Parts: sequence; C-alpha cells; structure tokens
Amino acid sequence: MNKPTFRQKLRSELETKPEERKLGSGWLSGLLAFLFSVAALFLSLCRAFPGVFIMPELRPIFDHPWFSLGLMAVMVAGFALALLNLVLRPNRILGLTAIGLTLIAGFIAQFGSVETSREGLFFGLDFFVLNVVLTGLLFVPIERAFPLKREQRLFRTEWREDLFYYFVSSMMVQVLTYLAMAPANAINAANAWEGFRAAVFALPMVVQVVLIMFFTDFVQYWLHRAFHRVPALWRFHAVHHSAKSMDWIAGARMHFLEVIVLRGVTAIPMFTLGFNPLAIQIYLLIVYFYSAFIHANVGWNLKAAEPYVATPRFHHWHHGEEREAIDVNFAIHFPLFDRLFGTHHMPETRWPKAYGIKGHPVPLGYWKQFLYPFKR
Ligand SMILES: [Zn+2]
Ligand SMILES: [Zn+2]
Repeated sequence: MNKPTFRQKLRSELETKPEERKLGSGWLSGLLAFLFSVAALFLSLCRAFPGVFIMPELRPIFDHPWFSLGLMAVMVAGFALALLNLVLRPNRILGLTAIGLTLIAGFIAQFGSVETSREGLFFGLDFFVLNVVLTGLLFVPIERAFPLKREQRLFRTEWREDLFYYFVSSMMVQVLTYLAMAPANAINAANAWEGFRAAVFALPMVVQVVLIMFFTDFVQYWLHRAFHRVPALWRFHAVHHSAKSMDWIAGARMHFLEVIVLRGVTAIPMFTLGFNPLAIQIYLLIVYFYSAFIHANVGWNLKAAEPYVATPRFHHWHHGEEREAIDVNFAIHFPLFDRLFGTHHMPETRWPKAYGIKGHPVPLGYWKQFLYPFKR
C-alpha cells in the first residue's frame, strides 16, 4: 500500500471518528488552530497584495490599524491553540500544519508594511553574520584568556547545533519580533495610563534602563520558574538545559516556541510602561551580550558583584547537572529575586561539576529538539 499523502492524512484527521474528537483529546484545538492559521494566511495575503485580492471599496478596512491588531490576535490565538493540540494529541498533523501556516502568514504580513517602512521583508542573514562576528569577537578572546574549563575548545561537541539556534533566531528576527510584540501592542492599543507613561518617559535614561532590567527580570523569573515546574512547559525548556557545554554560544539553544513566549512576556513591561525607545534599545543591547556572558566559559572570580547581579557562576549553577542545582537561580539579572522567592543557590566559590539534565533525555539536533516537547 502507498504511504498516505499529506492531504489524505490531513483529511482523515479532520474526519476522524466522533469518539476521537472528545473534549480534551486535542482535536478541537487542532481544528481551531488550523482554521485560524488559514484565516491568518488569507488575511495577510489580502493585505500584502491588495490589488490582487481585495475590492477597492474594502481597502480602508485592511489599512486600518485595528486590522493589524486583529490579524496579530488571530495569529497568536492560532499559535496557542496549535500548541495545545501538539501537547494533547498523538496525531500532530493539525497543530504542525497550523504552526507552519501561521509562520508563513507572519512572513507575508511583513509585505503589508512594504509601502510604509523602508526595510520591508527581510531574512536576517546579515543580522546573523553580524551577530556571530560581533559576539564572537568579544567572547572568544575572553574565553581563551580566562577559561573556566581550559580543555574545552571553541568547536566543542554540539557547537554546530548551537550555532544553528543562533542562525534560526537571527534569520527569523522579524517574525519573532512580530509575534512577540502582539501582547504588548494589544495592551498599548487600549491606550491607558498616559500620565503614568509620561512620568516614566521623563526619568533619567540610566534609571529607565535599570527599571527595564528590573521589571523584565521579575516577569522573566516567574515565567522561567513556570517553565521548570509545569511538566508540559519543562519539555520545551529542557532543550535549553540539554547543553552539556557552557560557553557564549550555548545560551542560544532555546526552543523556538519558548523564544516567542519569553520575548512576548518580557515585551509587556518593556513596551507598555512608557519607557523611552532609546532606553529599550540600550537594554536590548545589554541583555543580548549579558545572556552570552552568563553562559560563557569564563572562570572569573566576581565575588564582589555576586550578591547584586547575575554572574557566569550564578547562571552556571542554574545549568548544573547535580541534584543541588535543580530549580535554582531563575533570575537573569538580579539574584535578589531568587533570594526573595527562596530559590537562591551559590555555594562558596564552587562551580557545578557537569552541565545538562541527568540521563540526557533530550535528543541531539535542531529538528529532533523542536519536536521533542510534543512527543509522549
Ligand atoms: Zn532554566
Ligand atoms: Zn541558560
């Protein structure tokens, strides 16, 4: 017998028996995700090529700011439902199709702004090269000069996988930003607390940057903790923890969907409280290098700074394989949050002996790791 085609598989899943469509089976969320993603694709095509797809009378609707917001909401809802389907249902064809279509819709939606923005659609290939070269130029010499593990080489095991993570998040920077900005944009559309925002905007730049660090780390702390404590979420975050070597490139290893959720949630305080865009840009630059730094293979003794800010030793303990390192040090900037909420772990001067998850359950390779959270 021939292998069923994609279309046949999709159709048989859509027409599956009533007893396999029960609530909680993941069928309904898969169906809705599929419909949402088709709608998102259709709407973004209409907006991107208005001359082809829409009647002139309807064009003002598609140019209205609320339309963009609605389209984003449809895409985010489709994504969330697809996720639910992937977690609940062994047959993942609806969820995976919906994710694929939503990502395509995200790309196409970029065409919609071609007339208004200079950049239009771009894949971040230049961004990737710039990223790796700049970060590498900074960290490779530091890691060579002050290594924690002297025997670890630049091209250590699994370096290609981690570089590929770097590559994906750089290439997809526009889609990622588009999806991650959706919750913050929705809040901003409500247009509340103008006075409060003006007051924040008027603060000195340094204060604004520190406040952004503080607020984003606070929400990051609880999201990160949830990713550890909720089993279905842990399967996504386990990808980040599967790294057996720590260096400046290891931090890039993160499941694509976790990246979207993490950026989406931290974007809320960053973009809704009224901060000056310059302060946000400064912060983004800081967090970019900072996360490479706390993962780096750097054995610096930073005793004086350890009580106040996250250091490589602080985050290395978060990645430790040993028992004492499980579910500790969730903060990215301020260990204060771990102290306050009882998850702080910093033994005098010691470093973890090994990194990763005991038993190393996560498979190797980008696509295997992408599918890992959805496998039973
Ligand atoms: Zn973690
Ligand atoms: Zn990490």
